Amino acid sequence: MTGSNFLIEGKHGKILVDCGIEQGADFVEEHIYGAFHYDVKSVDALVLTHAHLDHVGRLPKLVRDGFNGKIYMTPPTKDLAELIILDSVGILGEEARRRGVAPLYEVQDVEKTFTQIETLDYHVEKEIAPGLSVYLRNTGHILGSASVRIKDEDGTAVALTGDIGNSPSPLLPDWESVTDADAIVMESVYGDRLHPPHTERVATLRDTLKRAIARGGTILIPAFSLERTQLMLYELSNFFSAKELPEIPVFLDSPLAIHVTKVYEKWDSTYFKKDVGDEIKKEGSIFEFPFLKQTLSRNDSEDIEGVKGPKIIIAGAGMSHGGRIGKWEARYLPDPSTTLIIVGYQAPGSPGRRMIEGASSVRLNGAEVKIKAKVENLHGWSAHADRDGLLAFAEASLAGKRVKTIFTAIGEPSAERFLAQRIHDYLGATAIVPDLGQSWEIKKDSVNKM
Ligand SMILES: [Zn+2]
Repeated sequence: MTGSNFLIEGKHGKILVDCGIEQGADFVEEHIYGAFHYDVKSVDALVLTHAHLDHVGRLPKLVRDGFNGKIYMTPPTKDLAELIILDSVGILGEEARRRGVAPLYEVQDVEKTFTQIETLDYHVEKEIAPGLSVYLRNTGHILGSASVRIKDEDGTAVALTGDIGNSPSPLLPDWESVTDADAIVMESVYGDRLHPPHTERVATLRDTLKRAIARGGTILIPAFSLERTQLMLYELSNFFSAKELPEIPVFLDSPLAIHVTKVYEKWDSTYFKKDVGDEIKKEGSIFEFPFLKQTLSRNDSEDIEGVKGPKIIIAGAGMSHGGRIGKWEARYLPDPSTTLIIVGYQAPGSPGRRMIEGASSVRLNGAEVKIKAKVENLHGWSAHADRDGLLAFAEASLAGKRVKTIFTAIGEPSAERFLAQRIHDYLGATAIVPDLGQSWEIKKDSVNKM
């Protein structure tokens, strides 16, 4: 796995879609540090589907390696991608220093990258390379996320979904299907798994928090800064305003998540679903409530420890492998009154995964930490469509009778194969699982391996 990165070649133009780095990957691996498998300088333009690191993380390396074209994305994606890239410079730099290698990219590469960014809104057709036009649609995955349809001068079109959302989302409009392409490359991260329904996962979160507050200790929620944190704040705000939870202090203790939440507030009226827009008009911010404190500075963060009694701390990193959450875990996990609530995917080997698996101690910030806390693992908070959501997307897209082939990509091989099999069996369409580095020729009536 290297992160999302697709090259589309038309008769005359070349467009890249995404340039990501796999989250939690070994950053010094050859396939991340090594040269791209195409002539970077010959690419005319790049389109970014959304701001997650596994879609955007190698963009400054591409620019460093000589990519000079424009980089297109929706306006919210621009704001979020700039935050994520700036944040990653620090993380990658630290990692490189620790291993005694040169960083993947540096601040000047990031600055150059930012000068090449142009915004393109949903539903606007634009020629961005010789003979090649692009068209973006909402995918309901995170704020600003888009699928990309690319059309050549003879009308042949291919679409790439980026990541497809777990619709219905409490915040974002449902994904839009893509019926006007000859072939689709679609994500398949949860291609073989199901999420519990939204109402069920909200009830479980509320009950878990009630129990945790009754235990009287600190409640730690490690959360990914982008989308997951905002979902948590939104649900907490709903619980408190409906008086379903006792009023206890909540700390958002992550500079990145605080900045990302500001971007969500900036764009809420334009890119959120309609009923949330009405809620915002009535209540002001849907992410804030009277006893939420955003602790941007280190000093404010240190002060959290002085607050006695039950309190909630939301901080990154989402898999407990860095960031401020590590500090709080080291402080509170040895205390049996603490509850750790996991709301995100935990990669094998990550501290979060080991805690779910019942480890009696984990290594955090270089020290072994005893776990006496209660660990609660909640499912269904993923921003990805599950296997039925993905199949529904494929079905809606095939309903236009134009799409003839669906490639399943960006997932574990087993998930890609499972989704492809179901698209073939249930929808009667041709589904292909491409290999990394393969090239396919897409025509109006056929696709062929090159
Ligand atoms: Zn994503």
